[in-house]
Amino acid sequence: MKKEELIRSLKSRKFPEKIIKAFEKVNRESFVPEEKVLAYEDIPLPIGFGQTISQPYTIAFMLTLLNVRDKQKILEVGSGSGYVLALLSKLSPKGKIFGIERIKELAEKSKKVLEKENIKNVQVIYGDGSKGLEKEKPFDRILVSASSRELPQKLINQLKINGILVTPVRNSIVVVKKEINENKIKEYPGFVFVPLIED
Ligand code: SAH
Repeated sequence: MKKEELIRSLKSRKFPEKIIKAFEKVNRESFVPEEKVLAYEDIPLPIGFGQTISQPYTIAFMLTLLNVRDKQKILEVGSGSGYVLALLSKLSPKGKIFGIERIKELAEKSKKVLEKENIKNVQVIYGDGSKGLEKEKPFDRILVSASSRELPQKLINQLKINGILVTPVRNSIVVVKKEINENKIKEYPGFVFVPLIED
């Protein structure tokens, strides 16, 4: 499959225009170490160390739920290859985007790729992101790219009021909108993710 076909398939699934534009602007093959011929198949791909980039459909779905605007402060936990960070950068070109990754080699490599792809508003941090990023809180948006067993309350605590968290919990994608009184929670079952490792 070619990039245009992937874009066409995302269009046919009625994702918002700005999400499709972001996919158009980012080269997935730059973030995939091997099997670059498969870069635009709608499947998860290995990025080394037993980790994978999610399939584009799943990423598009999560990014749609995250509802990113420009100039926001955004955190991705489990930033792996940096592919999703690059998409976030296109969705919020004047935003401040942070990625945390617990595998040092991936964190280092993603920094280099993002630099090479000329993406400037993203900072990658090597470390355990299961507790968020205390020194940069609060965030407008938090996206988690690995699955936890329970809703990560510590991450919800690092959201601004009206902020949104999108996170896999077991085999569901869960959206939390933080409100002054009670948070709004929605669950979408039927997904598979690598586990969030909690040290
Ligand atoms: N969004 C990534 C997907 C990577 S897969 C991409 O675009 O490539 C999920 C990543 O979460 C893996 O790289 C894994 O190492 C990382 N991860 C798992 N537990 C973590 C934790 N506690 N803190 C930070 N990263 C974690």
